[in-house]
Amino acid sequence: MKPIGPIPAGFAGQSRLTVGGVDFAELLARAGDTPAFLYDGAAIAARVARLRAALPGMVGVHYAIKANPHREVLAMMAPLVDGLDVASGGELTMALNEKPAAAISFAGPGKRDDELTAAITAGATLHVESEGEADRALAIGDRLGIRPRIAVRVNPDFELRGSGMRMGGRASPFGIDAERVPALVRRLVAVGADWHGFHIFAGSQTLDVAAIIEAQAATLTLAGQLAEAAGAVPAFVNLGGGFGIPYFAGDRPVDVEVVGAALGERLAARGAVLRETGFAVELGRWLVGEAGVYCTRVLDVKVSGGETFVVVDGGLHHQLAASGNFGTVVRRNYPVAVAERMDEEATMTASVVGCLCTPLDRLADRVVLPQVVVGDTIALFQAGAYGATASPAAFLGHPAARELLVREAS
Ligand SMILES: *Cc1c(COP(=O)(O)O)cnc(C)c1O
Repeated sequence: MKPIGPIPAGFAGQSRLTVGGVDFAELLARAGDTPAFLYDGAAIAARVARLRAALPGMVGVHYAIKANPHREVLAMMAPLVDGLDVASGGELTMALNEKPAAAISFAGPGKRDDELTAAITAGATLHVESEGEADRALAIGDRLGIRPRIAVRVNPDFELRGSGMRMGGRASPFGIDAERVPALVRRLVAVGADWHGFHIFAGSQTLDVAAIIEAQAATLTLAGQLAEAAGAVPAFVNLGGGFGIPYFAGDRPVDVEVVGAALGERLAARGAVLRETGFAVELGRWLVGEAGVYCTRVLDVKVSGGETFVVVDGGLHHQLAASGNFGTVVRRNYPVAVAERMDEEATMTASVVGCLCTPLDRLADRVVLPQVVVGDTIALFQAGAYGATASPAAFLGHPAARELLVREAS
């Protein structure tokens, strides 16, 4: 038997699963059928509100839409946040449907010329990831007769400790090594680009509050040093994000109030060169991850070699992360429950496996559940971020998961 992650607070203690106060069976009927992702809109809004209350008033909130770009989620999120951060031309198009270009920034290594053109034409902020990309953006701006708005993504000389995905402090495809940034900024200013500031993203998915505080402090210090060295005042500094959510046994949620208070102190003490600068954090997972549940129906319960397998109609083609194949080194169990009987005593040790014909498709490994029968609904939690769109939907030709944003005010 292996442990499972903690059921998120919004769902813990239920007897039958409800999302936004509505019974899951009603929601699955609304969605059409299993497998389906159910997203609690009220929980997402509450999360944004909590973050805003925790952060200093001068720090904006951006949503990194790759965490969950579902059209309705994006439409409800857009008015709640100050900016949308995108990482492809496709995401740029989606974001432009919801927010003015001035509130959209476009990062990501490997932007094609047509993507740069779209961003410059629209007036979004380009986060350039190399000197070469900056040159291409400038050339496209010249050709279009538009002054491109460019921020410089910095590969910082530190990293976010305890981060699931580190993005700083070493050789990286993301951003420009900090020591080369001042020269590029001087050049951007000299050629008349609309230099917008810095984007410093040190890592993702950490639960370590001290590490987040330390990274934010280091980010402010670095932004000040780079601005001094470049002899230019940044209009804006994107401080990155990295706030994780508790997926696994023993994980504890991030206390954003503590993070916000510390950031307030650091900002009050920031260098003179950053006095007029605007700031934002960019979060994906923390804003939407806990609000989502992936529901999949039990097709078979079988025994082999003395182990019980619960076979469901979903799988890693929808929720890759739960199978341990998206950004984790050691496979551990996401929080999981039987939606019909969340409060029933867990007496059955079983692995929940998806319908894909590959041994990788294991959604829960030797967990203890209430007695599961065919027709039951398995709920996998922490599915609101990096679920549907971060999974290999085309693999094996099964239909895409349904997705439903629950709009009830709970
Ligand atoms: C993916 C990404 C994010 C969001 O990360 P989360 O872990 O979902 O909060 C933020 N900023 C950048 C640059 C990213 O690439």
